[in-house]
Amino acid sequence: MPQKTQHTPMMVQYLGIKEQYPDAFLFYRLGDFYELFNEDAIKASQLLEVTLTTRNKNAENPIPMCGVPYHAAKGYIDVLIEKGYKVAICEQVEDPKTAKGMVKREVVQLITPGTAMDSKTIDAKTNNYLAALSVTEEQQITIAYADLSTGELKAAQLTSIDDVINELSSLKTKEVVFKEAEHIELQTELQTKLGILISTQKDIEENAEFAYLSSEVENTGILSVLKILLSYLSVTQKRSLAHLQKAEVYTPTHYLKMDHYSKHNLELVTSIRTGQKKGTLLWLVDETKTAMGGRLLKQWIDRPLIQETAIRARQDIVESLVNHFFERTDLNEALTRVYDLERLAGRVAFGNVNGRDLIQLKTSLVQIPQLKEIIELMNKNEWDSLLSDLDTVPEVVSLIENAINDDAPLSLKDGSVINDGFNQTLDQYRDAMRNGKRWIAQLEAEEREKTGIKTLKIGYNRVFGYYIEITKSNLANLPEGTYERKQTLANAERFITPELKEKETLILEAEEKSLALEYRLFTEVRETVKAYIERLQLLAKTVATIDVLQSFATISEKYHYVRPELTFDSQDLMLVNGRHPVVEKVLGQQTYVPNSVEMDANTEIMLITGPNMSGKSTYMRQLALTVILAQMGCFVPAETANLPVFDQIFTRIGAADDLISGQSTFMVEMMEANQALRHATSNSLILFDEIGRGTATFDGMALAEAIIEYIHKHVHAKTLFSTHYHELTVLEEELPGLVNTHVGAVEEDGELIFLHKMLPGPADKSYGIHVAKLAGLPNSLLSRAAVILERLEQKEEIVLGNHTEPKNVPLSNVMKEEPTSVGVSEAAEGQLSLFGALDETESTVIKTL
Ligand code: ADP
Repeated sequence: MPQKTQHTPMMVQYLGIKEQYPDAFLFYRLGDFYELFNEDAIKASQLLEVTLTTRNKNAENPIPMCGVPYHAAKGYIDVLIEKGYKVAICEQVEDPKTAKGMVKREVVQLITPGTAMDSKTIDAKTNNYLAALSVTEEQQITIAYADLSTGELKAAQLTSIDDVINELSSLKTKEVVFKEAEHIELQTELQTKLGILISTQKDIEENAEFAYLSSEVENTGILSVLKILLSYLSVTQKRSLAHLQKAEVYTPTHYLKMDHYSKHNLELVTSIRTGQKKGTLLWLVDETKTAMGGRLLKQWIDRPLIQETAIRARQDIVESLVNHFFERTDLNEALTRVYDLERLAGRVAFGNVNGRDLIQLKTSLVQIPQLKEIIELMNKNEWDSLLSDLDTVPEVVSLIENAINDDAPLSLKDGSVINDGFNQTLDQYRDAMRNGKRWIAQLEAEEREKTGIKTLKIGYNRVFGYYIEITKSNLANLPEGTYERKQTLANAERFITPELKEKETLILEAEEKSLALEYRLFTEVRETVKAYIERLQLLAKTVATIDVLQSFATISEKYHYVRPELTFDSQDLMLVNGRHPVVEKVLGQQTYVPNSVEMDANTEIMLITGPNMSGKSTYMRQLALTVILAQMGCFVPAETANLPVFDQIFTRIGAADDLISGQSTFMVEMMEANQALRHATSNSLILFDEIGRGTATFDGMALAEAIIEYIHKHVHAKTLFSTHYHELTVLEEELPGLVNTHVGAVEEDGELIFLHKMLPGPADKSYGIHVAKLAGLPNSLLSRAAVILERLEQKEEIVLGNHTEPKNVPLSNVMKEEPTSVGVSEAAEGQLSLFGALDETESTVIKTL
């Protein structure tokens, strides 16, 4: 191959390595730079906005090239990883000074979106999960995932592709590994549906480490998916995976199940409109003080519980914390001094910990006895299990205390990491250095005296070592032959003496040895700490749990929540004066109108009618979020709450973008409805908001009615169903498990005032034109709409005779006043004053039977 022989030896080496990493950017170390060549260079120069140059400009086919300085490489790598690419780091693996011929180079790590750690793009309160998937011959789907930075390793068996999609989207996984050439269709499906990076693993390894990590796993399907995940990790990270925790197998059915549509609709961790945390349930409940608490809270929101003992255990602790304000304050203060133990432990094990990290680890550990003390003050058995897991790990504390300097620098190579007194030999070297330096200072004073030259000084540089410097003007005073001349500067001369050189050797030797010894000692300390990893990881989990529970207690007290009474064997639901936790926080407690939900065991469907913007969807979400809070173990926003424990929540709730209604939106609507109808049980909660509005009226109404009947006949889940099809309210007569409710609104002089209050019975009309008026539409248009409506209603009475009652709405009322001057906020004010009056006359509990 004549072309290949044209390459320099370096390019031959480069191409050989690149061949093994075709799907990654190869960062090839050349001196102080990482260089990229060919296609990599062209693409990276665009993505990273660095200059594209060429190697061998004068050659026939110059090689495209770009580079980034190695000390700034991290930022560039982060950019590529964030964009979903992989980066292979290729280092010189022998000392160029001693290497014969080409310096040997190897890829030392393959960084991928799912294995990135410490990246700026990964915030402290977020996990970065890499997942692997496999399907057994019996068609069982298994998943395993790990967060390299925390060492978390989990696995489960899933039952359907829907489960896979739900799991991956709630984990926010960026990368999924498959065994090479397996399940290609599933790979493509995930790639198109979730936009996830798919990686494949060719060789599946087996080794002692893997065996240890999977030692508590029995299911063979799960074992095989773990092997795929671990093989991929070991091939990309090229080092021990000792810091991973033993694989924990979880059972998805042990948690309240929500599909990804529902999680998205309910804005649990990301806001639909902004994609941010603000305005979500997570935003509301996150009063955690530690990063690991923050991450655990997210996991708990993702997986509320369904088991009685587990929920009660959390509730008991939250109650204990709510009742002990002062202890909780102290506890929070101690928690703020605890660093990210989980990631610190991860770094210890991974081997990339520095002196400061160990000091942070110690600072965190010394808080633990205090945490224990505070908790013991509150404990009436509910804390027993957490207390026994609060390990103070005293061995690690005293080791770090003795060994590591509190002000250790970031670098491990510059010394000052190990404390004086920790190691005798180190102390001797340090003594030699200090003595040597003192001796030199003394020599300087003596020489000044001897020569009478006041400006004589002793200096040091890397090339000449220690020297005596005398300015030119003083040279005449120097007796001939005193010193050996070494260097001449513009206005000074530098000299040495044999004595000076002798001391110099001693000092430099001591320094060199001391730095090397410090590094070795540090590594030993690190290895010793490594032996405590499991204990540290358990401690981290325990502290995280305490942090989340105090967060629950803090918000429960701050926003006046109550402990819900959960029933595991009945379907009675009674929420008195409940509030939507997030809307309440945004609007303020005074403005928010509480609403009760009462559905006894025989009431399955609540049909909610009322004008747009009156609060139907807020009411439905209020119930769902209350259920989620309750099953997480938190208190809930209500006066009292008796709730059945739900197994699943399904939602179809209109989002702002649904208003731009189109075929695809309707499709999504139907898909979400389908999920619920197929998977809900009599223990599930279904929220359907305006189902059917994405299609033509009769179409939509027909579907809505059929869906209600289907739920009533087959599903029996507790269902809140809001609709603007008033015709559906007559279903109450046919279906014994259905009750009508509506949101109150009053019309005064043609103005519509929302009460945000749920009232029994159906709404009398839809007020669409009133809302349009509120929005300030032109008067002539509104009058025209009123005429059209009247005509349509007459027609409808003919078509749907038995389903509609004649409407006696005086539509002309709407037009009584000049439009546009009334803003929504004024209407809201009216609603407030009116609400006060209403509250006295109307029961706040909706009597549904
Ligand atoms: P709908 O679903 O009936 O169109 P929404 O539930 O979206 O109406 O509510 C519209 C607005 O009304 C909300 O954005 C909120 O600001 C306000 N709102 C809803 N419920 C209440 C309430 N209970 N108290 C006070 N304001 C409320």
